[in-house]
Amino acid sequence: MSLLTSWVESANAPDGQFPLNNLPCGIFSTAGGRRRCGVAIGDQILDVTALEQGGLLSVHDHPVFDRPSWNAFMALGPETWRAFRARLHAMLGKEASQADRQAWSGALVPQADAALHLPVETRGYADFYGCRNHAFNVGTMFRGPENALPPNYLHLPIAYSGRASSIVISGTEIRRPWGQLKAPDEAAPRFAPCERFDFELELGAIVGQPSEFGRPVSVAQAYEMIFGYVLLNDWSARDIQTWEYQPLGPFQAKATANTISPWIVTSLALEPFHVSTPERDTPLLPHLREPGPMLYDIDLDVLLQPDGAQHATTITRSNYREMYYSAPQNLAHHTTSGCPMEVGDMLGSGTISGTTRQSRGSLLELSWGGKEPIGLDGGGTRSFIEDNDTIVFRGAARGDGYLIGFGECAGKLLPAHADPYARGA
Ligand code: MN
Repeated sequence: MSLLTSWVESANAPDGQFPLNNLPCGIFSTAGGRRRCGVAIGDQILDVTALEQGGLLSVHDHPVFDRPSWNAFMALGPETWRAFRARLHAMLGKEASQADRQAWSGALVPQADAALHLPVETRGYADFYGCRNHAFNVGTMFRGPENALPPNYLHLPIAYSGRASSIVISGTEIRRPWGQLKAPDEAAPRFAPCERFDFELELGAIVGQPSEFGRPVSVAQAYEMIFGYVLLNDWSARDIQTWEYQPLGPFQAKATANTISPWIVTSLALEPFHVSTPERDTPLLPHLREPGPMLYDIDLDVLLQPDGAQHATTITRSNYREMYYSAPQNLAHHTTSGCPMEVGDMLGSGTISGTTRQSRGSLLELSWGGKEPIGLDGGGTRSFIEDNDTIVFRGAARGDGYLIGFGECAGKLLPAHADPYARGA
């Protein structure tokens, strides 16, 4: 696959994130306007809501785009997703007629003039632990390398159910949480601001089709249900987690916020970048086996910028191909109980870490539990996130002369409230 050229000239830039090959889905608004569906193309947004209202684009017998989420469109299913993409390729491609170009160019809105919002309404969110490198690193820190992986790890994708209500859009400021902390040498817990606040580099899979209550889905069916992917920062309070997590898993440590990037990059755009999960010494039970490659080759970077610093430091370079379990495997596993999936649900991949120090997907791993602080370009070191640091994720699949960009997933950590229970002021 090579670059598909468009008459929207900015979409043909060789290092651009949003060529015609990509067409990611977001929710935007302009001054005085309401939130509605749009598709990124070059440095523009295609206002599909305006096209639908003008009778120039129709995907269903009733309007689906004049809404503050893509849920109604996603619910129409994979055949509609494909037809929509084909129609945009035809109308935005170099071969489009002069009349079509003229009609559709009126629906282009400069990204610079638009605000972006959460692209999906999510009611269910589960976060997985699907990267063996990450699980091995964390397990080694706490239990030693011989016992690093829990006994179930090679047999099923481990997860916890997270909160959908604290999913926020890139750019939202995050407040350092308070919680119960207890170091091993302390006799009793204390209530204090988190001292080991961290990020986790993940992808969020967006579920675009429901499943039936009481019926599991196969991995192949799960693949067809996933509409697309966003960058996901699963902000994590390591010290709160240490004290709270046994026996039911993380709770408040993972509930502060989950930041996602604004554009859903579709599974269709990612098709040329398929890679397989790794060879397995321990075979999976049949219901979790993949019928084909279901991971993607997506480069992922993490940058840290202290408050007032001139430059951000790239602290991690990883890749989504490092996962041990794919999103369709996670989704299939989540339905084995008969739990129904809903349109808009999100599944976090788990922290995406490579095998080298430079590719670790969290500060817990980068600083090895705080014992080996990492250096920053402008001076200074970090073991965990400090007040007013900004964390930025970037992601891109690299094709022959084009990128499938994910945009940015950014968040600044504000200092803890002096008194979290004080109101007013
Ligand atoms: Mn996580």
